[in-house]
Amino acid sequence: MGDDKADIWCPQCKWRPRPESRWVCTPACGTVWHTFWTRGVCPGCGVKWPHTQCQGCEKYSPHENWYHYRDPGPGEQVSDPASLEIE
Ligand SMILES: [Zn+2]
Ligand SMILES: [Zn+2]
Repeated sequence: MGDDKADIWCPQCKWRPRPESRWVCTPACGTVWHTFWTRGVCPGCGVKWPHTQCQGCEKYSPHENWYHYRDPGPGEQVSDPASLEIE
């Protein structure tokens, strides 16, 4: 933990949530909050929403699919054998 840097955007249209964006829980709960501040958990009733509606394309996507982590990948490691030369 602590190194939780993810880009957040809609996996279907790449719409990015804004700080002022808000989502609404069920009418019975009535909580309005920013779902990416709580990772999909309603602070009013504690329900974790598995899907999040995009405010750009209005489609639902699994909440976890909104997080896009930078993966360096194995090909990024540059090893330079020459630098290991011992004279
Ligand atoms: Zn709620
Ligand atoms: Zn979208």
